[in-house]
Amino acid sequence: MNPAEIIRKKRAGSSIDRAELEFLIGGFLNGKVKDYQMSAFLMAVYFRGMSFEETVTLTEVMLRSGTVVDLSSVPGIKVDKHSTGGVGDKVSLILAPMVAACGVPVPMISGRGLGHTGGTLDKLESIPGFNTRLTLREYRSVIEEVGAVMIGQTDEIVPADRKMYALRDVTATVESIPLIAGSIMSKKIAEGMDALVLDVKVGRGAFMATEEKATELAKTLIAIGGAFGKRTIGFLTDMSQPLGLAVGNWLEVKECLECLEGRDIPDLMEVTYTLGGAMVMVGGKAATIEEGIDLCRGAVESGRALAKFREVVRRQGGDLAALEGGSPYPDPRAVLEIGSPSGGIIGSIDALELGLASIGIGAGRVNAEEAIDPKAGIVLKKKAGDRVEKGEPVAVMYTDRTEIAAELAEWIGRTFKISEGPVSLPPLIHSMVDAQGVHPRPRRRAAGHRKLKSHD
Ligand code: URA
Repeated sequence: MNPAEIIRKKRAGSSIDRAELEFLIGGFLNGKVKDYQMSAFLMAVYFRGMSFEETVTLTEVMLRSGTVVDLSSVPGIKVDKHSTGGVGDKVSLILAPMVAACGVPVPMISGRGLGHTGGTLDKLESIPGFNTRLTLREYRSVIEEVGAVMIGQTDEIVPADRKMYALRDVTATVESIPLIAGSIMSKKIAEGMDALVLDVKVGRGAFMATEEKATELAKTLIAIGGAFGKRTIGFLTDMSQPLGLAVGNWLEVKECLECLEGRDIPDLMEVTYTLGGAMVMVGGKAATIEEGIDLCRGAVESGRALAKFREVVRRQGGDLAALEGGSPYPDPRAVLEIGSPSGGIIGSIDALELGLASIGIGAGRVNAEEAIDPKAGIVLKKKAGDRVEKGEPVAVMYTDRTEIAAELAEWIGRTFKISEGPVSLPPLIHSMVDAQGVHPRPRRRAAGHRKLKSHD
């Protein structure tokens, strides 16, 4: 076999078979297939796509490039969640302990923030001492003991994806449904889960900006899960504005702690309960998503979810004292309130621009090697649909970058669009997708537990 022949075949729109994919991906890993050849192949896939069978084979070949973790020693149906990523998306930190507290084991392998989106690993690592680099042996023992574990991708899990993703990132070949599906599902299957709930984000701050593309991705991921015997369901959720109030790693951890203590931040808890209810259902502890939501709400209201979170933090080396009271970090050098330029109703908060601004203040990174400032971030005081008076604060910015603080504050201010008249907001949960198809969004609001505090 010859890489150029396989590239030519895909370039012409033909299907690539298992032996060819094994040759290409195996060769790429051992250096016989060069970066430029793999780049050309990825671009051919980007333009020509892959059939469903080809995408399943791609997933399997990628999966077999590393270790497939066996979690059969952990009793129960192991369920993970995957989000396609967004701004202020801190759901995993509440969800994993909450679902584990309902008796469903949650093995979670997450990523770092890149581009305008945040990453679960960066949020967890803002808890002093929290170790996201467990060995697979430690990973297995934490889930056995605690029922939830949250780590980053190890060298043993799908090495092909690590190398291919790095190349895709710099060759404009990330936005391809078969490549995204192979990348996500190979990693999820390798981590040892039995079932998966997807949070496919839609809107300005999402990977897939349109509902049509997001639905296509969700359907492909679900069908691949099915092909590997892993029950997979998904929700399309809004990412036109940031989720919740905090954007920035330590600020997001604090927000999650407050929610675990019973605070109702409506959009954040609505998404968390909906995904959690589905995880508890596919985990076999509830007959319906609604019943699962009630169990999740019970886990939060009883304090069991918070206790489980603390157990995960302790077991993974995090400093529990840091979770009490104030911040473990020095005060940011600049704390600026951003006032509304006019009165009216907030029509939108541009999640993409706000995510980019959060990188500017130090809360995110432009490339994978950059350091982030865990205490930098933005706290929204208003969300889309809220009424605001002229000059009233819409957000507070925390940064050490004093020399550009005023400029950054202006940028954040511009992400808010104020309307004089009524505004129409996108739904928070667009739809649910499963092996049977696309279903309208649930009518009942999932959140609404004890309302201790609200954001305004
Ligand atoms: N997340 C992944 O893990 N892989 C992709 O290709 C895109 C998003």
